[in-house]
Amino acid sequence: MPEDTINFLKRLAEQNPERGIFSAVINDKNGVTVRLKSGLVINDILPESYDIVNIKNSRPRIQMLKIIIDTSLLHNLYYQAGFAHEIGHVIYPNEQQESDEIYSLEFEVLTQKFFTKPLDYRLSIISKQLKLKMNNEIKAWEAGKPIADLIGVDRNKYEELMILGLQGHYSAQVDYISHLIKDNCPDITQNTQISIFNSLTNTDDQMRFSEFTEYNRKMVEMNNRAVNQFDQRIGILRT
Ligand SMILES: [Zn+2]
Repeated sequence: MPEDTINFLKRLAEQNPERGIFSAVINDKNGVTVRLKSGLVINDILPESYDIVNIKNSRPRIQMLKIIIDTSLLHNLYYQAGFAHEIGHVIYPNEQQESDEIYSLEFEVLTQKFFTKPLDYRLSIISKQLKLKMNNEIKAWEAGKPIADLIGVDRNKYEELMILGLQGHYSAQVDYISHLIKDNCPDITQNTQISIFNSLTNTDDQMRFSEFTEYNRKMVEMNNRAVNQFDQRIGILRT
């Protein structure tokens, strides 16, 4: 594609009044081709290595270079919003570069050498993961907007699902880094200052470790609420 995909999609959405999904056809290997009423075939705008795959009762998600959806839920506007967001993940510029950076931080935390670094350094690497992952998530929701427009999801529904998605993601990530701190920072004390990226206010919040423990407890509660509501909206049955 000669120009970047997001600008192409924005222009297509502006120029083309047709909204909606025309068809989602499943082939014999569970691959899906999604064609929009505007004529756009979603598969054509994905990076080359990506496929769309049909899996029953699955949230829209990405795994091993596959965008996974349940086509039987694709009539639901919230489900469509979630699908547009997943496409956002793979089409925004620098996505590969950012994923690589996140991966290298995740890897560093697993190395023996990481243990020998000063506490401040270890904490900074751990918090940085949280910040990069959330920024990545926010950008993917932003990048998914022109797709949502072309599919015909109204902005209110898209943003409603985005807020639940970001809350669920953020709270899960906070809980994840609390485990990383526990495993990698046995020398931390209740008074140690840490910097926690707050994606709900888009600020770096300074807090003591004792405050973080309480913060994390609230996040675990928020996670249950947000994930339940998210699944309810998109029509997933939880087992
Ligand atoms: Zn996402």
